[in-house]
Parts: sequence; structure tokens; C-alpha cells
Amino acid sequence: MTSKSNTKKPAAAAMTPMMQQYHAIKQGADDALLFYRMGDFYELFFDDAIAAANALDITLTKRGQHNGESIPMCGVPFHAYETYLAKLIKAGFKVAICEQTETPEQAKKRGSKSVVNREIIRTVTPGTITEDSLLDARANNFLASISYMRGGEEAAIAWCDMSTGELYIKSTTPERLSGDVAVIAPREILISENHVSEDWAGLFETTITPCAPSLFESASGQRRILEAFQVATLESFGAFTRADCAALGALIAYIDLTQAGTMPVLQRPQQQSGSHAMAIDAATRASLELTGTQSGARKGSLLWAIDRTVTGGGARALAQRISAPLLSISDIAARHDAIDWLIGNNAVCDLVREALAGTSDLARAVSRLSLGRGGPRDLLNIRSAIELGRVLAGHMTEQSSLVEMPSLIAMAVSDLENTNAGGFSALREMLKSALTDEPPLLARDGGFIAKGYDPGLDHVRSLRDDSRRIIARLEAEYREKVDVKALKIKHNNVLGYFVETPPAHGDKLLQAPWSELFIHRQTLASAVRFTTTELAELDTKISRARDESLARELEIFDALIKQVLGAHVALSRLAGAIAEIDCLAALALLAIDAKYVRPKIDDSVAFDVKAGRHPVVERVLSDGGDGAFVPNDCVLERDGDAFLHLVTGPNMAGKSTFLRQNALIAILGQAGSFVPATSAHIGVIDRVFSRVGAADDLARGRSTFMVEMVEAAAILNQASAQSLVILDEIGRGTSTYDGVSIAWASVEHLHDHCRCRGLFATHYHELTALSDQLPRLENVSVDVREWKGDVIFLHQVSPGAADRSYGVAVAKLAGLPPSVISRAQSILRNLEENSSSRDMPNTDLPLFSHHTTESQEPTDTSVENPALAMLSKIDPDSLTPRDALDAVYRLKAATRVDFDQSEEN
Ligand code: ATP
Repeated sequence: MTSKSNTKKPAAAAMTPMMQQYHAIKQGADDALLFYRMGDFYELFFDDAIAAANALDITLTKRGQHNGESIPMCGVPFHAYETYLAKLIKAGFKVAICEQTETPEQAKKRGSKSVVNREIIRTVTPGTITEDSLLDARANNFLASISYMRGGEEAAIAWCDMSTGELYIKSTTPERLSGDVAVIAPREILISENHVSEDWAGLFETTITPCAPSLFESASGQRRILEAFQVATLESFGAFTRADCAALGALIAYIDLTQAGTMPVLQRPQQQSGSHAMAIDAATRASLELTGTQSGARKGSLLWAIDRTVTGGGARALAQRISAPLLSISDIAARHDAIDWLIGNNAVCDLVREALAGTSDLARAVSRLSLGRGGPRDLLNIRSAIELGRVLAGHMTEQSSLVEMPSLIAMAVSDLENTNAGGFSALREMLKSALTDEPPLLARDGGFIAKGYDPGLDHVRSLRDDSRRIIARLEAEYREKVDVKALKIKHNNVLGYFVETPPAHGDKLLQAPWSELFIHRQTLASAVRFTTTELAELDTKISRARDESLARELEIFDALIKQVLGAHVALSRLAGAIAEIDCLAALALLAIDAKYVRPKIDDSVAFDVKAGRHPVVERVLSDGGDGAFVPNDCVLERDGDAFLHLVTGPNMAGKSTFLRQNALIAILGQAGSFVPATSAHIGVIDRVFSRVGAADDLARGRSTFMVEMVEAAAILNQASAQSLVILDEIGRGTSTYDGVSIAWASVEHLHDHCRCRGLFATHYHELTALSDQLPRLENVSVDVREWKGDVIFLHQVSPGAADRSYGVAVAKLAGLPPSVISRAQSILRNLEENSSSRDMPNTDLPLFSHHTTESQEPTDTSVENPALAMLSKIDPDSLTPRDALDAVYRLKAATRVDFDQSEEN
């Protein structure tokens, strides 16, 4: 972390010893707010106090003075600090937690004015939180670290979820980084100060933590990795590049720094190759709303529409699948096989889901325990998870043997069955006999170790209980002795055990002979309180026994944690198996409930979706009861050639829905899910691009049109023959002529050069003329009917171009004043009458003829026929069959230019 202390430091001489200590600690907190523990509060001072009071909306007070200035201060109660911490982290702050590491009594031994020792025990940052109250149970909380090597030519990204122990590493390139980051969606990114730039902050909407360049040294990174995983060589993890070591090393160093030396249990780093997942850049993710809507909500996203998981781990696994659909046909098929099997065994599926419901989060419990932040309930959760593993394994193997199961199910079941093995059984038995059934949240509250587990503890507890019994006897004895029926023995934290009588009887006990036995402690309006020598002795005995039993319980607690952490590898496999089963069972249920089908995914360029539906719009319509979704076919391939569809239709007709549903069907299919259609055959898609025209990005200082063009450029430069491109109203953010020209040229480029499958929605009806010139482009339109001047949306996609826009009719539906509508209608009539045709007035310009890249250069066609010029440059002997075919198309296009111009002349 960089050092950016925001606290003004007064001269040391003017400071109290406590303030001196505060400043020394604040120096080490870098740019984090310092939660400085004082008794039952975490206090903040100086600028930290001002910032926190603002963010938390709490009162800013003052404490003492330094150099004539009062010190701003605010505080949050220790017992409720998590709520405040959550708010501060959400607001983008980091928080260093500074605890007292000795008691005031211990401090006094060093001198009466000694300040209690304090230390930062942890720095809380968005990427390092582990508390359930600060985390979203259904989402990963990734911390990522990015390294560059060879002068910025190579890069690597390492990322981990500290709350679950997952750890990944990927070698990449600077160009691919933003796509990689979009897949991971980290809450915090670490990057060397040398590489962070303004662009970075704008590129990723997450916390960027600039770190010292030394953190990213590959040699020391390698040492840190070896130490963290207690291995002698990295070879067992796969081949690590220097960039990998730097990124992972920095990640480990940062965790070490923020956790003040306590490492969470991390799984061995899993290497991800650059080519295992479908590439979906950040703009496409945002536009398709895969895991969150454009406004950041989960509701309304693809994940929201399809998620039927019942555990946090299962939900996170599903989110990861949707974020990174696969490319390997066999891996995709393995997921589909598993869903098929679960659908076929739906009785098992139901039992499994019933067993899973309401279970706790195993991975997060293990992580909390490893960081010293766990409680007795986490141990109980681990015990329940082991029991759950046995139950699930039992259900799954009831009807079929492992060999009959599809590979993914069989792998998960064998991890579940492992819970029957010796090590797990011993752990389960130990936790079963050690823990009470309803332990407290915090270990310091005690009372969570079961009777009979530890003879030493039982002995101290019996001393405490005996004393309590004696106290109960004493109460009866005193009552009888003094003949006051209302006499009671009570307990509070200030007086300990005491005798209490109503005021009316107080005098009696204050006088002889009873004044010898009862020693007065307190007189209240409602009671008089006393102690006796015997009671005081018993009180001491009881509190000593309580302290001893708590200390013993804490010792046992630590020993249990050690045992649990010793089994962390097996536990994380168990957590993985539970998540896998939950995720697959949820997808099977989705397929049954929402009528999704298994898609056929192969290495062709097929795209043949029959009666496809949009998962989110369909769910919204069915939840709101607003009618049924109208399914539509989409065929983007014929005879092995990829096709483009130009989609026209009025506003609100359903163009965007149709475009997106096809991209979502491809993503769902490759993520391993069934898809909302009656059938689907898709040749594996390497990248999906989706852009919606005109979306302002003022935060990044780009105009609507600029954003649109930057994004369109990315597509035109990167889309390949295996890609799927969705362009919705591209070119809308500029004048009509500019817009239509850009849209026109973009479609040509996608058709001629990218040769990808694609859907292109537009309001520029002029573009529909392109289908005469481009053999692999077809027009489709979303149907509407006009009835008594109103439009009725049919949402049905059919071949052919739309006849017109119906914009005014839609505006009428939207409630524009009648006077505006009738005026608009008359202007439209005028415009239409004055225009020679409804097509683009200037389609006779060369611009709107089909040009290839070569012919887009300005050419003086009056001097030379471009087709002949082109022909003269062709060397027939060096042409491949594909080049020859391309050349024929180019020649044909060039001839058309010539023809158009000769007509014009
Ligand atoms: P615009 O050109 O104004 O952007 P559009 O043609 O892209 O409009 P959409 O945004 O896709 O239209 O659809 C508008 C609404 O119509 C959707 O929010 C949805 O409620 C409904 N709709 C779209 N497609 C269907 C369908 N196939 N079945 C039922 N309702 C649909």
C-alpha cells in the first residue's frame, strides 16, 4: 500500500503519550482509516474522524487539544463495529484495526503513566474481508493482483477469494487484461505504482490499490509462494512464468500485510489458460447483464433469472460458470451430461436439494477459522457439512453406482463419499463429542464444549456448579435465620453475589445481631444490599472457576481448530463437491421448471435456435403475469457459411430482446446449462460481442458517440469466424448520414472480413438494401400490426425488412400530447412526399455500394475502371481458393461501383 497519511501530526513534545502512540501506529496504517481501540470503542482522530463521521453520519466530537487546536474525534462501539465497517468499506475506505494487546493492569506494571500497548491486528480492505456480515453469500469476493514483465509486454493476473480459499493464476497480455479482469470482477486490484495510471481507475469500476514496485519482484515473489505453500519447488503447481510469480507473490505479500502475518488457508494455485473460456469483454458483459444489471443490481440479470441454487457455494459456482463459458466441447458436454442425469433421476435431485437447503457455508467457515476470526458455530458448521457429505453421498448412490454416473457427478460423489473415510469420521466424531448443539457465536462467551469431552473442564465446572448450589442453599438458610421471606441472593457484574432485601427489612439486617453477619454494600430506593464473608468467598471461587473453565474451553477450541485446519485440503474438496452438486441440481431444476433443452454444441459454425426465448424477459413476464413470451427462431448458418441478420422493426417491437436472447442462449449453452428454446445447435463460439448504440460514459470523459465508436472498433478488429456479434443500433449517436455510413461499412466489414455470425438491429431502413449485395446477409423484421392508427406488437420475427418505423405511433402509445402527435404526423407526411424514395436519399453515392477495404481508398474512377485496376494487381498463381473467391466478390463489388457511376453520369 502506498503511504498517504491524512492526519496532521502535531509536534511530538506537545503530544500526550497516548497521542504519541496513536501517531506512531497511524504511520503504519498507510492510507487506511485507523480504528484505535479504547475500552469499548474504536476511536478515530483528526482527518480520519472527519472522513468517518461524514461517511457514517455519526457525531464528530473533540478530545483535548494539541498546539492550541482541538482534536476531532468520533467513535464506533466495539460490539457493533461490523455494521460501521461495512459502510466504510462500501464507501471505498480501508480500515486498520488497532487493538489493545495488554490489559491496563499489565501496562501499569511498567509505570503508572504507561499507555496500554496497541497494535494493528489487521487492515480491512474490499478484497480481504471475510466476515459474513460484510460479504454477499452468493458472490465471490476476489482480490486480484496484476504484474507486468519485459517492459510491459507480458502480464499475469493472480486472484483469490480469501473467504473461500480459492486461488487462481493466469498468464496474459496487456491487451487481454481488461477482458480477464471483466471475467473475474474483483473487488480490489493490486498493481505496482509504476503501472497505475488515470486510465486504470476509469477502466475498472473497483478499488485499485497501488503497491510498492518491490512487492512485484518475481524472485522474492517465488520465495513467498514457496513459503506460503510449504513446498520446495513450484513445479508441482505447473509452469510459472516470472510474471506469474510476481503477481502471485504480490498477492501473498498483500494478504500477509493486511492480515498482520496471519495467512488464511489458500488452495494450491490453479492455473487458467488463456484459451479455456469464451472471451466476453467488459462492455459485452454489461450490455448482456450477465451477473448484474447495468445499474449494478442482481435482480434483472441473467444470473438472477436462472439461479435456483440453495447454498452460497453453489450460487458462486454458477456465477463463475456464467462469467466464463467454456470452449472445450467435451467439457461443455460433461456438464450437459450431468444435468441430463439429474433430470433423469429427479427423485434423487429432489432429495439432494432438500438436504442442501439451509446448510451453512463450509468454505467460508474454514477460512474464518484459519484467520482466527471463527467462532464455535463455524466448528459446528464443519461438523454439519461432513454429515451432509455423507447424506448426499448416500442419496446419490442409492440408485446408481459411480460407474453409471456421468463423470462430473461421479467425481463430486467420490469427494462426498470421502466423508466416510477414516480421517473425516474421526474429525466428525471429535466435533460431535466436543461441541454443544447450540454454541454461542463467540468463543469468549464460553459454554460451547459439551459435558464429558474434557475431564479437566468438567472438574472446574463442577466446582463452579457446587458453589452455585451452596449459594442456593445459603439463600434459604439466611431467609430462615432472619425471618425475611423476601430476602434473595442475586448477582451483577459490579458487586458479584450479594444479599438483597426490600428497604422495609434493611434496618433489621443493619442492626445487631445480624449486623455481624451481613456487611452493608449498597442502599437503593427499592432495595438494600449486603454481603457476607461466606458469600464473598463463594463468589471468588465461582469467578475463579468461571475464568478457569473459559480458559480451558478456549484451549480446547484452539486444539479443535488445529485439527480442522489439518484437514483443510479435504474440507475444501468437500466444499467444492457440495457446490458442484448444488449448481448442477439447480440447473437440472431450471431445465425442468422453465422448459430449457440440451443444446448441441460442436465445432461447426452452426447457429440454429428453434423457438428461442429471452431468459430474463420471459421470467419478468411470467412473474408479472403480463402475457407469454413469444419465442423466435434464429438461424445464422447455411451450408457451412456464417450469416448475418439485419433486424428491423419499430421501436418497442422486440429487436433488442431478440438480439440478446440469442447471445444469452449461446452463453448459457457453453456455460454448461440447458437453454430456453425447443432446440439449439451451436458451433462453439470463441467470443461474443454485444454493443448497444449510444450509452454515455461521462465518468470516463467520453461522449456517447466516442464510446460507441471505440467499442465498435474493438469488435471490427477482433471478431473472428468463430465469433458471435450483436450490434444494436450502432451509429445512432451522430448525424443520419454519418450514422448510416458507419453502420453500412461496419456490416460490410463483418460480412467480408470477420465472416462471423451476427445480428445487427437498426432503424436505418436503407441498410436493408445491403442484402442484395452481401450474399451472407439476410433481412428479418419484428412484426407489428397497425389497427385504427395504433400499433400492436406481435414480437414475432419473420424474414424480410420492416416497411417503416412506426415511431410516431409508438410516441402516441407513450403518451405524447395529441397536438404534438398530429403535428409530427403532418411533418412526416411532408417529408415522405418530398423524398424521392423512402430509402436513403443518397443511396446512389458510391458510399452505399458494396466496397471492400481495398476499394474504400479514394479512387479516380473516371480515369480507370477499378475492376480492371484490381484485376491487373492479381497474381493468379499465388491465390488460394479462398483468396480467389474473395477476389471474385471484390471484383463484383468494384464492377457495381463502376456501373453506379456510369448511370450517374
Ligand atoms: P427500441 O427500438 O425502442 O430499442 P426494441 O425493438 O429493441 O425497441 P425491445 O426493447 O427488445 O424492443 O422490447 C420492448 C419490450 O417488448 C420488452 O421490454 C418486452 O417487454 C417486450 N418483448 C420483446 N420481445 C418480446 C417477445 N418475444 N415476447 C414478448 N414480449 C416481448
